[in-house]
Amino acid sequence: MKIDVIKYHQIPKIELHCHLDGSLRIATVLKWLQEDQEDIADENIEVFKKLLIAPDNCDSLDTYLERFQIPVNVLQTEKRLTQATYELYEDAAKENVKYLEVRFAPHLHLEKGLDLHRVIGAVVKGVKAAEADFKIKGNIILSYLRNTEVKGFYQMIEAGSAWLGRGVVAVDLCGGERDRFAPRFKEAFEKARSLGYSVTIHAGETGSIENIEDAISLLGATRIGHGTAMYNDLQLQAQLSRKGIYIECCPTSNVQTKAVASFKNHPLDLYYHNGVMVTLNTDNRTVSNTTMNEEFSQMNHYFNWDEAIVWKVFKQSIEATFASDEIKSWLRQFIGNN
Ligand SMILES: [Zn+2]
Repeated sequence: MKIDVIKYHQIPKIELHCHLDGSLRIATVLKWLQEDQEDIADENIEVFKKLLIAPDNCDSLDTYLERFQIPVNVLQTEKRLTQATYELYEDAAKENVKYLEVRFAPHLHLEKGLDLHRVIGAVVKGVKAAEADFKIKGNIILSYLRNTEVKGFYQMIEAGSAWLGRGVVAVDLCGGERDRFAPRFKEAFEKARSLGYSVTIHAGETGSIENIEDAISLLGATRIGHGTAMYNDLQLQAQLSRKGIYIECCPTSNVQTKAVASFKNHPLDLYYHNGVMVTLNTDNRTVSNTTMNEEFSQMNHYFNWDEAIVWKVFKQSIEATFASDEIKSWLRQFIGNN
């Protein structure tokens, strides 16, 4: 059964996997580039969009990741980091997203003299400003590029600890996925967990199922980003379900990067029916040219997800958040009789 679009918008939503640099407003990026003296006229916006939005069919995850170059180049001041975060929360609030965990890699924003502390502080400031203005709450996940030296991870968690529980909640590993990327980060993640960080890891997106197992057993992940690789491993799915590990699914992004062959082949519906605890997310609103409502519409279109399932995912997502008990209670009030 098709869900009516308006009805659909009215159902509250939670998003747990969304990258800041992949979700900038195109008009804002254009304005910043013009401020930086780049020779791009307003009328070239259509050409410009192609530089920020990944094609429906990228030849690889790496082609998809190229779309982050311009956003990262322009996001090198505290003012812009705060504004970008604020705008992302504003956009999400308009889709009736009630809680959003935004992730970003602080190390990518040091090119013009900022330090990690100021970078993280600027993003947290954007979240707080948006919380004051819109009916949405959020927290930040600090992502670390896994193909770089481990020592930078320690610097990141130390800088972020000033906001732990006050806007920063978790750590993540991101970037191109090689098999067995996790072992060398084992001690670093023990340190992060001892400080109080929760853990989510991009795993099993373009890499193997061993990466999913490692993320849980070696790094202490309680959520997995993507996890599409375990689509035919019922044992691993059952294990995740038993352990209470949530999967952050991002179908549109997975189709673009060829992590899955097509939308109808995405394992999200299969996971749901096999009892794996799934959440639905955009990954990148701009690079993937999508929204939360769009993702749910696709699930409705390809897998007949009805309102009952959308509500179930909302309830499941509350438990999957890294939010405080206070925020979880605030989110539960939206459930009503549903
Ligand atoms: Zn991601």
